[in-house]
Amino acid sequence: MMTDQEKTIQDLDAKHHLHPFMPHPDIARKGARVITRAEGCYIYDDSGHKILDAMAGLWTTQIGTGREEMVQTAAEAMRQLSYYNTFFYTTHPNVARLAEKIAEKTPGDISKIHFASSGSEAVDTAYKLVKYYWNLKGQPQRKQFIARENAYHGSTAVAASLCGLSGMHEKYDLPIDGIHHVGPAPHYYNNGGEMTEDAFRDHCVQAIEDKILEIGPDNVAAFIGEPIQGAGGLIIPPEGYWTKVEALCRKYGILLWCDEVITGWGRTGKWFGSEYYGVTPDIITMAKGLTSGYQPLSAVALGGDIAETISQEEGEMVHGFTYSGHPVATAVGLKNIEIMEREGLIDTPDQDEKISYFSEQLSLLNDHPLVGETRTLGLLGAIELVKDKTTRARYSDEENVGFICREHCFDSGLVMRSVGNTMILCPPLVITTEQIDELIAKAREALDKTYSQVSG
Ligand code: PMP
Repeated sequence: MMTDQEKTIQDLDAKHHLHPFMPHPDIARKGARVITRAEGCYIYDDSGHKILDAMAGLWTTQIGTGREEMVQTAAEAMRQLSYYNTFFYTTHPNVARLAEKIAEKTPGDISKIHFASSGSEAVDTAYKLVKYYWNLKGQPQRKQFIARENAYHGSTAVAASLCGLSGMHEKYDLPIDGIHHVGPAPHYYNNGGEMTEDAFRDHCVQAIEDKILEIGPDNVAAFIGEPIQGAGGLIIPPEGYWTKVEALCRKYGILLWCDEVITGWGRTGKWFGSEYYGVTPDIITMAKGLTSGYQPLSAVALGGDIAETISQEEGEMVHGFTYSGHPVATAVGLKNIEIMEREGLIDTPDQDEKISYFSEQLSLLNDHPLVGETRTLGLLGAIELVKDKTTRARYSDEENVGFICREHCFDSGLVMRSVGNTMILCPPLVITTEQIDELIAKAREALDKTYSQVSG
């Protein structure tokens, strides 16, 4: 039962709050779930319902929530220097140290870091810096960007344009010019058909090369891709895909931009997804796990010639935000990385063991009549819901099976996200093996309930 005070929160919310990515009349009718507290891998709602957050918030809370050490760090940073900017020939210790730390942790020769607050801002920034770079290089015709179907890169106008999801475009007269989406996405289960996985990989890479040739290689500025596509359906590309994509970029002199807003900071088991796949991007965009969500902070990290060229330019960069390198956010970022190092949450035998356990346990759900495939990489997982396991036939959009499953998960005390017919998992890096057991048990319970609802 809701208390009066809690009802008021729902009412206020319905009356005045425009939610991201939500149909407003429906949320007003149902009333938003009021989340009041979070600790470790759990969130709590207003009736004290404890829910295992197997989505790490929004792919964000690597070290778990509510850690006192982070609270202390933020409070101390706020006491010391609650705000100053980094514009007028000024800097501060936290921003300089965090820039160094990011350069240390990123693959290849990444050496220059620019900060923003959200992933979308980082993406918009990188897009501008790519244009700036090619102008400086005397190749102003190189202004075309290649992105992929099912890509998610954010919600600001440029980032949304880079998304390969038509829903991101239709209502907003997007995409802007100069952005090309290439398909199929490297999603073997959905798009592989009768091809072998290797043949499918080569087909996807060939489609990118065909697009480069169609645009004209000298006109292409950059290729942007998430090492594992997240919000577009947790798409783990076939083995060897990224090496081949990198080779294409090098062949045609195109910048390789990895959007690691999800795959950065330990998601794949390595510090960065590009490191996992053995590629060295020219540009990495990152956010989320950089602070585990304790503060909003994102970054664009540059390596190679783009780093050199932009940092050597005598003129002003003419770009930046009030909160670029915010002193509290950067302090929190530094502490977050320190904790991940100290607790061995990334690239350690213990964490690798946990990742294997997660993968083994999730694969046990393959015996469920509703499950067509499970797949994992690092602490990212997906469950494909199907009507028919052998033909891979899907439920229709109207049947809403993913949404139904998500609601059953919530009721069973588990957050799993649905993207169409795909259920997605992205637990905090600190999840324990016991909590993985709990996750799997609750997921099975939700799958059972969903199955009896949709197959009845
Ligand atoms: N890029 C990727 C790969 C993302 O997954 C996201 C967010 N999920 C973004 C960019 C945008 O980040 P934000 O929501 O912080 O703007």
